[in-house]
Amino acid sequence: MKIAIMGAMLEEVEPFLEAGEHEPLLKYFNKHSDVVYGGNLYHEAKYKNLDIVLGYSKIGKVNAALTAATMIEKFGAEKLLFTGVAGAVNPELKIGDLIAATQLCQHDLDITAFGHPHGYVPEGSVYVEPSRELLHIAKAVADEKDIELKGGIVATGDQFIADPERKEWIEKTFDADAIEMEGAAVAVICDAFDVPFFVLRAISDAADMDATFDFDEFLKHSSQVSSSFVLAMLDKMADGTQ
Ligand code: SAH
Repeated sequence: MKIAIMGAMLEEVEPFLEAGEHEPLLKYFNKHSDVVYGGNLYHEAKYKNLDIVLGYSKIGKVNAALTAATMIEKFGAEKLLFTGVAGAVNPELKIGDLIAATQLCQHDLDITAFGHPHGYVPEGSVYVEPSRELLHIAKAVADEKDIELKGGIVATGDQFIADPERKEWIEKTFDADAIEMEGAAVAVICDAFDVPFFVLRAISDAADMDATFDFDEFLKHSSQVSSSFVLAMLDKMADGTQ
């Protein structure tokens, strides 16, 4: 089974790779090979009985789509787990909290001039849903480890949201719980290739006036929270296939 682990920024996948503040999560990785493709660096490795391809796309929907497609088409990923940070829309989500996307949409995709709803993906739908099986694995991990994992709607767009008005519009229009810049692009690609996927985000900011400050402050910590959870999912997936 080949699993893709994807982030948008180096910081989001770094916990798997490097000894920084923490030990690298994948310290039991068999020595990996590094491949540069389409301007991105991909690490191939073995973790327990799983084959892994790991990398970050750089920020935004176009970059995310390129990386998700590359992980599937070039590296043969059969499942994709996205790990990273997001801005909170739902006030119940605090910095460091985890949210697993149950639906994803593109808040900046707008062909409403032709009568379509906001976020409508041509020949598709507004929302794309991740794999139920991967959501079940996530829930099992959260239950076992007594970690609070919320589920909710993740809205994606090519904008860093640090504006209460835009945030409120996204909340009202899409019933969104969190905002980020890659998830729905990954969802559309995985859906097109019929590859089960899962998007996990730890909150880094509240998409408000303080968002840039909070983001810089909490990026590393929240990335670590999300990566650790994904590693626990890998453990469960490895056990399940042994
Ligand atoms: N500091 C970076 C830019 C970060 S953009 C630079 O200078 O290049 C924010 C990243 O974190 C994106 O990958 C996005 O997915 C996520 N994110 C976190 N909070 C967000 C918010 N409030 N709005 C949009 N994306 C957010």
